[in-house]
Amino acid sequence: MDLRFTPDELAFRDEVRAFIRDNLPADTRERMRLGYPPRKQDSVGWQRILNRKGWAAISWPKQWGGPGWSAVQRMIFIEENQAAPAPELLSFNITMIGPVLIQFGTEEQKRRFLPRAANLDDWWCQGFSEPGAGSDLAALKTAAKREGDHYVVNGSKIWTSTAHNADWCFLLVRTNPNAAKRQEGISFLLVDMKTPGITVRPIISIDGSHHLNEVFFDDVKVPVEMRVHEENRGWDVAKYLLGNERTGIARLGKSRERVAAAKEMAREVRQNGRPLIEDPAFRQRVAQLEVDMKALQITQYRVVSAATKQSDGRPDPLSSVLKVKGTELLQSTTELAMDAAGPLAMPIWAQELAEMANEPDILAEAAEQASASYLMLRAASIYGGTNEIQKNILSKAVLRL
Ligand SMILES: Cc1cc2nc3c(=O)[nH]c(=O)nc-3n(C[C@H](O)[C@H](O)[C@H](O)COP(=O)(O)OP(=O)(O)OC[C@H]3O[C@@H](n4cnc5c(N)ncnc54)[C@H](O)[C@@H]3O)c2cc1C
Repeated sequence: MDLRFTPDELAFRDEVRAFIRDNLPADTRERMRLGYPPRKQDSVGWQRILNRKGWAAISWPKQWGGPGWSAVQRMIFIEENQAAPAPELLSFNITMIGPVLIQFGTEEQKRRFLPRAANLDDWWCQGFSEPGAGSDLAALKTAAKREGDHYVVNGSKIWTSTAHNADWCFLLVRTNPNAAKRQEGISFLLVDMKTPGITVRPIISIDGSHHLNEVFFDDVKVPVEMRVHEENRGWDVAKYLLGNERTGIARLGKSRERVAAAKEMAREVRQNGRPLIEDPAFRQRVAQLEVDMKALQITQYRVVSAATKQSDGRPDPLSSVLKVKGTELLQSTTELAMDAAGPLAMPIWAQELAEMANEPDILAEAAEQASASYLMLRAASIYGGTNEIQKNILSKAVLRL
């Protein structure tokens, strides 16, 4: 197996790198470099720039605005974009609802929603998890009762990322509570977040940010033409959505960016009178992480390279390795960045300590964000299917235990 990029792929990487360098707005780049999560306007602005170039709907067919890239090109693009660091494409739009509509949507749904999803004119959110239905998603209870030409939805969802920014939600609901198998009584609906009866309540996470929400549905009317695929066949759609696009799941570009940020901080921070970057223990930790990132990168090339030869369109169970190891690395690299910041990483102290030590303000800001992204990424081993569930997949599908 050849794990080197071809000359064309290398040229493509240079083209992507140059485009991001020349087009990413300076204020977005600066905020992201300091470790801040992108604001809504940063994500929208950058996705629109990419869309104008034809680089937003990266996994969609050309007919619907995709660039016609190979899996390797998509991987290169995702990594370069993460490492820049630039806001990531909104996954709810690009890797979730877009491919779902292309596969299962009516012509009318495709024409209405796909161009707007690519351009982030509509911000989508994912209404799957409920208080009693996370890993065991088929236990979901939010009910949709058919009344003439619409459904009436009642129930609640939880952990709905960015629901407060969203224009639309793709929602899993129970349409047949008496089905023999739980999976056979579920439907997939597209819901306008402005519909009366929807309440979004924030959940503030440990990093202090508002990313998560609870969403309540009280007699929410959803037109029947907003159902995707047949009634009670929503589980097929959900399975397709969850397994669809695994390229970039390792988020290696983000890990690389965090190590680079840690090294930059370690040049400024002093320990025992010397820059931390000269400390042998710190250097050894960096070296180990760089080796681990290299190993994961090679595994990623193997998975992507195998995917390009596979024609049945089913996700490779080995992509679960990318999720598990990728999130472990994200957690280790954000921990490194926080440790490099030392006491400055404590938000309440950052400014004062920086002033006392005569450190540059920029360091205080980066240090504060290092602890925020450390805290946020504790959740990476939970969302997108917990790491325990990924290990179950591996034990069954790969190890055949
Ligand atoms: C930051 C963040 C963002 C999220 N965004 C969204 C979103 O936008 N939309 C959405 O619908 N959901 C979202 N989620 C929810 C996420 O999908 C669920 O948290 C996840 O599926 C786990 O479900 P749960 O929280 O109910 O935990 P549970 O499923 O109750 O799991 C609890 C623990 O038990 C373990 N466990 C459960 N079952 C098994 C098993 N069979 N074998 C071994 N171990 C098991 C789990 O690994 C976990 O450690 C988000 C979650 C987080 C943290």
